[in-house]
Amino acid sequence: MRRILANGTLVTPEGLRRGDLALEGEKIVGLAAHIEPEPGDEVEDVSGCWVFPGFIDAHTHLQCWTGMDWTADSFETGTRAAACGGTTCVVDYATADRGVTMDDALAEWRSRAASGAGCTANYGFHMAISEWGPDSPAQMRRMREAGVSSFKTYLAYDHLRLNDAETLECLECCRDLDAVLCVHCENGDVVSELQRRVLAEGITGPEGHPLSRPAEAEADAVSRLLYLAQIAGARVNVVHLSTELGLLAVRAARARGQQGVYVETCPQYLTLDDTRYLEAGDDGFAGAKYVMSPPLRKPADVRALRGAVLAGEVDSIATDHCSFNLRGQKDRGRGDFTKIPNGGPGIEHRPAVMATTFEGQLGPEELCRLLSEGPARVFGLWPERGRLAVGAAADVCVWDPSARWTISAATQHQAVDYTPWEGFEAHGRAHLVYVDGELVVRDGEPTGATPGRYVAR
Ligand SMILES: [Zn+2]
Repeated sequence: MRRILANGTLVTPEGLRRGDLALEGEKIVGLAAHIEPEPGDEVEDVSGCWVFPGFIDAHTHLQCWTGMDWTADSFETGTRAAACGGTTCVVDYATADRGVTMDDALAEWRSRAASGAGCTANYGFHMAISEWGPDSPAQMRRMREAGVSSFKTYLAYDHLRLNDAETLECLECCRDLDAVLCVHCENGDVVSELQRRVLAEGITGPEGHPLSRPAEAEADAVSRLLYLAQIAGARVNVVHLSTELGLLAVRAARARGQQGVYVETCPQYLTLDDTRYLEAGDDGFAGAKYVMSPPLRKPADVRALRGAVLAGEVDSIATDHCSFNLRGQKDRGRGDFTKIPNGGPGIEHRPAVMATTFEGQLGPEELCRLLSEGPARVFGLWPERGRLAVGAAADVCVWDPSARWTISAATQHQAVDYTPWEGFEAHGRAHLVYVDGELVVRDGEPTGATPGRYVAR
């Protein structure tokens, strides 16, 4: 039995094509102007829709202890919410905390993903490294054999970060393994000192968060990372780029001919600015919804990053989904913004927020590059995923660009009590979503199927 998606606009690596797509088992088995149904085939008329390879969110934190609390979303709820928005695969950050081997961390994350009632979307893992030792290269090699083709280090957060010499060694290992190093770029010393000073001035609310993490702290770390990567000859992904100054550092590296410089940004840095920290409500604490690192920036930064997206300078748009409830979790930081769990939700709404924000500026091919093909290429999922082609995985998002709906915490599937895009009028919505050939979502609602599984990269 085949599933034939008929009369759609197919978004393929060769361009847009009017036609039909056939799925059978876990694969795409046909792509043509017309596919004649045989007895037993199921046909969905998708005229008026854009047919994308399933979207890939390559930066998530699900079912994770972040040092302050557990995230609100589990693998079960997070991958279901992802699929409702059109995302068929996430690459989540497994983290080897200090004293824990990467092998144990990967086993732990895989068991967490398998522990609920099932995952709706597929998932892979990056491995975040929080300490460096003589055995680290061997552990990284074993990770690579287990399907982990990207690693992460931090230049901020005292309990996670490596120093520059350790970062350099890690980059050299990535080079030897043909892996990508994803790096959180903020100058941790500067952030720690500024947090102390802002609190000492008596600024304790959410508005203190951006004051303690200036754009310069990001730009310094981006620049330093890119020079270290150049020394090592390694490929790097600057995660969640948030500032124009950081973008200038990326441009400088590319202008001097450096290869393997990838840039990721997130919907929040393309749509929201730091006035949100002053949002009224919850006794002046509503701004805690936007306490994430890096913080929301100035309108000029938002404009610069949008320009970079339009100019093709951004390789992937991911969410950094790391959800905490405002009530019961974030509010533990009332009276001290450094104790507000860092992070926000977005795994469900990234495609709609981006399609709407760039409506009339980015067509389906560019959306496909930023939300599916780009992350697939950077993170080793290509050519199995991230493209519509015969033989590729049957991860498909049928997108209805004419749908109109309003984003709201009241109707979302993310297991968290708010969304940064409350009231956002979205243009376009996932109509049908398939994961490895199984229909998991119809018109934004889950069907209950949970085919999601670990994807080795
Ligand atoms: Zn993150």
